[in-house]
Amino acid sequence: MSGPVIPCPMARCRADNPFDADECERCGTPVRGHARLTAYTAYLFNRGLAAARAGRLTVARDHFAAVVHWCPTDTEARNALALAGYRLGDVTEARRHWELVCERRPDDPLARRGLSLVVEGSS
Ligand SMILES: [Zn+2]
Repeated sequence: MSGPVIPCPMARCRADNPFDADECERCGTPVRGHARLTAYTAYLFNRGLAAARAGRLTVARDHFAAVVHWCPTDTEARNALALAGYRLGDVTEARRHWELVCERRPDDPLARRGLSLVVEGSS
């Protein structure tokens, strides 16, 4: 297969589909909306990173929060949301998001490091 592909969003399938596919060729799950949402959240995530680099942490946090709203399983965005919250002084919120990351990925190094920060800070 050549050109861009859309991976099926279903964890048990993950088949690659042509970029213009309406539904997964293997399992029939609609992929078109998923592809659009993925592109949109990637855009929001990059805007959030740019804002964070520019020191605009509140803007960054809002963008990361929107990504997590659309993609609750996106641990990279949730880690970024937690870190932005932490740097804004919202330790409770940061801790909550890092704990959610660790529920999905117990060995996630960013979330582990984050949690060690907030646990030390609160004791
Ligand atoms: Zn599929």
